[in-house]
Amino acid sequence: MNYQQVIEEVYQEVQEKNLRGKVATYIPELASVDPNQFGIALVDLEGNVYGVGDYEVPFSIQSISKVHTLTMVFHVFKSKLWSRVNVEPSGNPFNSIAQLEFEKGIPRNPFINAGALVITDALCSKFEHATKQVSDFINELAGKTCVSINPSVKNSEKNHGERNTALAYFLKAYKNFDNDVEEVLDVYFSHCAMELTCVDLAKSFSFLANDGYSIFAQREIVSESHARRINALMLTCGFYDEAGEFAFRVGLPGKSGVGGGVAAVMPHKFSIAVWSPELNEKGNSVKAIQALELLTDKLSFSLF
Ligand code: GLU
Repeated sequence: MNYQQVIEEVYQEVQEKNLRGKVATYIPELASVDPNQFGIALVDLEGNVYGVGDYEVPFSIQSISKVHTLTMVFHVFKSKLWSRVNVEPSGNPFNSIAQLEFEKGIPRNPFINAGALVITDALCSKFEHATKQVSDFINELAGKTCVSINPSVKNSEKNHGERNTALAYFLKAYKNFDNDVEEVLDVYFSHCAMELTCVDLAKSFSFLANDGYSIFAQREIVSESHARRINALMLTCGFYDEAGEFAFRVGLPGKSGVGGGVAAVMPHKFSIAVWSPELNEKGNSVKAIQALELLTDKLSFSLF
């Protein structure tokens, strides 16, 4: 399979469509990125890297980091975790407060903001220096020191973090939050403000394409059964309330972020990261979704 040729074709075809969306502005600092950037990196299970466009430019991974944090706590808390957070698609905006109240403080899944805050709370219970542990973990998964935290993005989100702060206090009111709210929010905003290139992000997802074993970290990160479950969650909940549409159009487990990135895996074949900052109205990168749809069409395979 000539992955380099395929992703170059995909890149050209997407560029020719001249798709437009809007960069996220609710975190003001995210609005300052050049909206025309677009990169694709694919990493196969031998560790070969294929890239096109802005694939070596670091960008804000935002919610994609929720896959890394979930991975860190999943094998620590095992099934106990699932009494605190459910595994159902939400069908609601990712920062919905109404849904959390309606469901009595048990978030729908670990990828909406309420669920991710529970995961970060669990992270803070386990790790004394949680932010550092998250970046160390991602560095290990990528096989090199590559994570940086953008302080402007972090502070920008912190200064406009009313909804996440409200969600965290709501969780506390329902006794589904153990640590200090401000401390957990600081870790949450920090991991959302982490920056990676498409290459390093794709490498950090490689273990999910490889039954839990990372060829870059050279160890089993999670068991095969946990890897399967993380992939199932990404497929059903990884794209805000557009997860069904993504499964229909692309058919790969993945996770998007409001920085315009998408990381996805084709089990037993490759991991891929695509980035372009302009988003559709659901919060997913317009070009990244189109690129992944073209990719699976050209390769003639997906999960299905
Ligand atoms: N840090 C962002 C927030 O909490 C992440 C959103 C996202 O990428 O989905 O609103």
